[in-house]
Amino acid sequence: MRSGILYLVSGPSGSGKSTLCRRLAAEGEAEFSVSCTTRQPREGEACGREYHFIDRETFGQRIDEGLFIEHAEVHGNLYGTLRSEVIGRLNSGIDVVMDIDVQGAAQVRSSTDPVIRRALVDLFVMPPDEHELEARLRGRATDSEEVIALRLRNAIDEMSHWREYQYRLVSATREEDYNRFKALLLAERLRVSRIGTEG
Ligand code: 5GP
Repeated sequence: MRSGILYLVSGPSGSGKSTLCRRLAAEGEAEFSVSCTTRQPREGEACGREYHFIDRETFGQRIDEGLFIEHAEVHGNLYGTLRSEVIGRLNSGIDVVMDIDVQGAAQVRSSTDPVIRRALVDLFVMPPDEHELEARLRGRATDSEEVIALRLRNAIDEMSHWREYQYRLVSATREEDYNRFKALLLAERLRVSRIGTEG
């Protein structure tokens, strides 16, 4: 029996981190921590699958009740990780993957909870350079120049935090990225400190 890994993944939009997290969960390698958010669902998103979509008032109540491990405001919306999505799984030896921003990551990193401290592996995913980032942001958005410029500034600001993470993945091709992403989890499973005392 080994304890679960908390695989925390951050990176700017356009880095491909969400796709990596979703695929890992779809392949059964880890379970995805479904966050709460006050943002509106996008087309194709379902409540309880991508996020728990809740209003600000409910979000505030959950903060007061101490239900979140971390929470932060990102691009004008609130996001938070529920304790109930993470702790029980880690204690049962299940690996959990979470997609959170740099502010949330800093809160998880500074947690004093021994279960979280032992489980945490944090990775920053980033595009190879600013040109590629811009191309990716433009490629998928139908937004105005103004919005693209804002997203780009936010992404560049977010990228300045990569040194706060234990690991960094500079994006190449989809398959290569996924192979490296999964390899890190597989390697972390071999850590002696995660293995129980029996056997
Ligand atoms: P989106 O709304 O595009 O799905 O996500 C916007 C940003 O919020 C992304 O950077 C994502 O990593 C971050 N995010 C998603 N869930 C959480 C969470 O539970 N906590 C924090 N701090 N950030 C989150």
